[in-house]
Amino acid sequence: MNISVVVPLFNEEESLPELFAWIKRVMTENNFSYEVVMVDDGSSDGSWKVINGLVEKNPEIKGIKFRRNYGKSAALYSGFAKASGNVVITMDADLQDSPDEIPELYRMVVEDDFDVVSGWKKKRFDPFVKRITSKFYNGTSRKVTGIDLHDMNCGLKAYKNTVVKSIEVYGEMHRYIPVLAKRAGFTKIGEKVVVHQERKYGVTKFGLERFINGFLDLMSVTFMTKFGKRPMHFFGVLGTLMFFIGGIITFWIIGEKLYHSFTNVITRDVTDQPLFFIALILVLIGVQLFLAGFIGELVSRNSSDRNDYIVEEEV
Ligand code: UDP
Ligand code: MG
Repeated sequence: MNISVVVPLFNEEESLPELFAWIKRVMTENNFSYEVVMVDDGSSDGSWKVINGLVEKNPEIKGIKFRRNYGKSAALYSGFAKASGNVVITMDADLQDSPDEIPELYRMVVEDDFDVVSGWKKKRFDPFVKRITSKFYNGTSRKVTGIDLHDMNCGLKAYKNTVVKSIEVYGEMHRYIPVLAKRAGFTKIGEKVVVHQERKYGVTKFGLERFINGFLDLMSVTFMTKFGKRPMHFFGVLGTLMFFIGGIITFWIIGEKLYHSFTNVITRDVTDQPLFFIALILVLIGVQLFLAGFIGELVSRNSSDRNDYIVEEEV
């Protein structure tokens, strides 16, 4: 099969028939063999009924329904598990992404050999606040992750099948799938400018908390990528450094005090010096960071994916 289209959806009953008809038209025009995996992320409207209706007439649709709303990441992950096409394309259900982009995305993966191609909504039809924060956020992401994408969180993306089978999208990590892919060794990541439309039906499913969560997730994903498998290298370095600086200051304070008492100079108490407290705090926090590193090592030693390498080929 050429293409699997994975569509995560949460309360999008009005859009689904239109979306599928459009996908179908594009696929037929281009002679693609395809499937559409619709993942109903615990909708409370009639989305699942609509999917059932569509499946009856169109065997190329596969439907998955969650018992409750688990979030876009979980929806994508379960869709990825089902996807059997050579190229896997993800797309939002709200008709903001255009199925007309599919042929070119497919070509870029198959002919240009990209592992991941991300959409870039260069001209976007979203509220002003969202456009500005998104710019800022993408700029930061580029710096921090080293992946040169203008629209990391674009819902419209294409992947080689092996990519989606090699990554685990959990929590809210759907915003950072290219980072997960890069971490798994898929480094040929490209982008394509895609058209974007205003939401036709329904409302957005992400509120203002997206902005805070987005940054927190960026920090965790970066930390996990760099130090997830070797927490001691992060906490240990910081801890040792602080402990040493604190230790040196302590010796300095003691030495100074001793020197002054031998030379009979009257000085203030050690505990009256700000430096004493600084040394104390540095030593204490240093030890704690070091311990955090140790505990981190113990935890990662027990994690099931402590050896999560992927063998590409064997001869
Ligand atoms: N979505 C989902 N589960 C959720 C939230 C959203 O499957 O918990 C789906 C939603 O139905 C849509 C896509 O994720 O297909 C993108 O969501 P939305 O359009 O609300 O995001 P926006 O375009 O505002 O960034
Ligand atoms: Mg949308």
